[in-house]
Amino acid sequence: MAERYARVIVDVANAEVDRVFDYIVPEGMDLEPGAHVMVPFGPRTLDGFVIELCAHTQVDADRLKPVLRRVEPFAALRTDQLALATWMRETYQCTLAEAFRLMLPAQVRRDRVAPKTQLFVSRAREGYPPKCTARQRELLDALAEPQPLSAVRADVARRLEGKGYVSIAPRETRRAPYAQTQPRRARVALNPMQEEAFAEIDAALAGGGGRFLLYGVTGSGKTEVYMRAVARALELGRGAIVLVPEIALTPQMVSWFRARFENAAVIHSRLSAGERYDEWRRIATGEARVVVGARSAVFSPVANLGLIVVDEEHEHTYRSERRPCYDARRVAQSRMDALGGVLVLGSATPEVSTFMRAQPGVRPENRLTLLELSRRANGAPLPEVRIVDMRRELAQGNTSIFSGALVNALRDCLAAGRQAILFINRRGHSTFVSCRACGYVEKCEACDLAMTYHRNGDALVCHYCGRTRKPPKTCPQCGSRFIKFFGAGTQKVEEEVRAFFPQARVLRADWDTTRAKDAHERIFEAFAAGKADVLIGTQMIAKGLDFPRVTLVGAVAADTSLNAPDYRAGERTFQLITQVAGRAGRAGEKGLVILQTYEPDSPVIQLAARQDFRAFYERERVYRRRALYPPYSVILRIVAAASEAEAALQAAERARARMEAFIEREGYREDLIHMHAKEAPVARLDGLFRCHVFIKLYARGHTEAIWAEAERLAREGAPGVRMEAELNPTNMM
Ligand code: ADP
Ligand code: ZN
Ligand code: ZN
Repeated sequence: MAERYARVIVDVANAEVDRVFDYIVPEGMDLEPGAHVMVPFGPRTLDGFVIELCAHTQVDADRLKPVLRRVEPFAALRTDQLALATWMRETYQCTLAEAFRLMLPAQVRRDRVAPKTQLFVSRAREGYPPKCTARQRELLDALAEPQPLSAVRADVARRLEGKGYVSIAPRETRRAPYAQTQPRRARVALNPMQEEAFAEIDAALAGGGGRFLLYGVTGSGKTEVYMRAVARALELGRGAIVLVPEIALTPQMVSWFRARFENAAVIHSRLSAGERYDEWRRIATGEARVVVGARSAVFSPVANLGLIVVDEEHEHTYRSERRPCYDARRVAQSRMDALGGVLVLGSATPEVSTFMRAQPGVRPENRLTLLELSRRANGAPLPEVRIVDMRRELAQGNTSIFSGALVNALRDCLAAGRQAILFINRRGHSTFVSCRACGYVEKCEACDLAMTYHRNGDALVCHYCGRTRKPPKTCPQCGSRFIKFFGAGTQKVEEEVRAFFPQARVLRADWDTTRAKDAHERIFEAFAAGKADVLIGTQMIAKGLDFPRVTLVGAVAADTSLNAPDYRAGERTFQLITQVAGRAGRAGEKGLVILQTYEPDSPVIQLAARQDFRAFYERERVYRRRALYPPYSVILRIVAAASEAEAALQAAERARARMEAFIEREGYREDLIHMHAKEAPVARLDGLFRCHVFIKLYARGHTEAIWAEAERLAREGAPGVRMEAELNPTNMM
């Protein structure tokens, strides 16, 4: 035996020990790279992963210890994942151990035998305990059926158990997620447009790989193309990963894949620990060749991985907001590049930055090949979109949140026995100030972004430059008193529907009604089965759902996200309107979409109504270049949180000064566009005061170095202050 030493990464989060340690391979122990082992580490025994095996070591013989044992008979990590971890460390400033954690279910690392039972919480008696807290009430309300302990707040459950209101006991678990019957999707022959797109993917699968952006209008048959690509990868002996924004919101997509690819594994955050382990094991051993899952599924140990599909690539859920803050699309690309595989990003409304990469003149390392599906697959026309000016409704004495046009359309739809979707935009909910009479929105004069209302201090604040102002009592534009903090909730919409149409059967999908496990699925299934006439919901009903009987979509307040304090507000509004409008008239009958807005002249609303993505893209590109927003710049920020406001601010000020000095010393002055230290947009969170250093940079090649300094600074922290660095954060809380 030539290889007597194993180089091992030990599973500790500490950046200080983020390096390889050598161990002796005992006589008779069979190891290979990726093997999961237990090793002595100081006084402890820890999990470790073999990186490589070698014949020599630099470490003194008397300091070497042996590997204690191996845990799984198969490699826990594939060789390409070992390389991926190194890439993660460089790209996201994390440790190798942190990267490995993303690739392994918690159970594997803790070396526990997979339990066949799981703890469940169920109601032990009716009613609420005296002095019931909001959290306790919330949990009790969610217990119409028993819930796994892992799916609820365990501390709250334990407290209620103590009071005798719930019981916590182990139960047998089925551990077959989505074992219910799979609604099949008829196999269709691809139409010529789909065929053309598929042919390019096919050629790349058979050749040395490739990267594609599949840009196809809603209902154009992207899903069929994905399935054909997966089937082709399998024929070629390669495995595939299909990423969806959020499993609970795309139940149909999951069942279609499971119906077509029998062994497909499903990975998502709501799986119990046991289910997760079982699915991971099926993938790691090569039994499951296809994986469907949310963000974290991109790390799956698929054998001979040859294809990764990212559906609805514009969705923010592909970015992790927890350390390491990775972007699943970027991870997918890195994996496919390394393996000579194929990456397919698909969307009807690609992110502006993504679409830009599919244009001529892009550097090869960034380039995507554009594939386009410009019409609906079954020949159904795109829905007709009518913009309704809500200012005029108010002027005509209609103070309801429904316009006359929407009420009439609903009446027609219900009379015809069809279904309707009413959509409320929850993003940017009630945080900005707008005039219901004229549509005026309070904006920052320097940034041209809506200012955010801070109840704390009764002030309007610009989240980009930090300017503040008192909120107006009357509209500065028209003098109306109907200026208010915007927001209408789903419950209000439901009341309104019931008032107008008492006989209509209504389902509501929002944060309140979907907290229980599988609640989304149940609501969507009921609606698909025709058990309701109207579905009311937030963002969660806008995604890839296919309800053939829906002919009307009403966007009750289409523009609330338009004024969110973020340079992506226009992009997100456009995406949402297009996605939600795409739910109407999918089965051939002409759909109708009513867009209620206070800003009917806004170019974003106009372009969304025309569903003209290309024109929108062109406009957005020009705006970003002029205002220097990503991808023309990079935004970096360091958040400092402390129980004393003064401490948070001082920490941010010090961080700013240090970043300034670093940039100066390293000669990166040219990269810097703007930097300031201020109270964070969400100035208080979880009882902590928050301040941030906001840094805008040109991408001149020093971004990683500057970010690394920010990370170092954040890791060092300050006494009593929690610090975090983020690159291109998804939101500006
Ligand atoms: P997308 O993912 O682009 O929104 P889907 O793949 O869900 O679109 O397809 C939309 C509808 O069109 C589905 O009901 C699907 O069954 C149907 N469809 C897709 N491809 C074809 C085809 N080639 N011929 C007929 N119908 C198709
Ligand atoms: Zn006004
Ligand atoms: Zn500003």
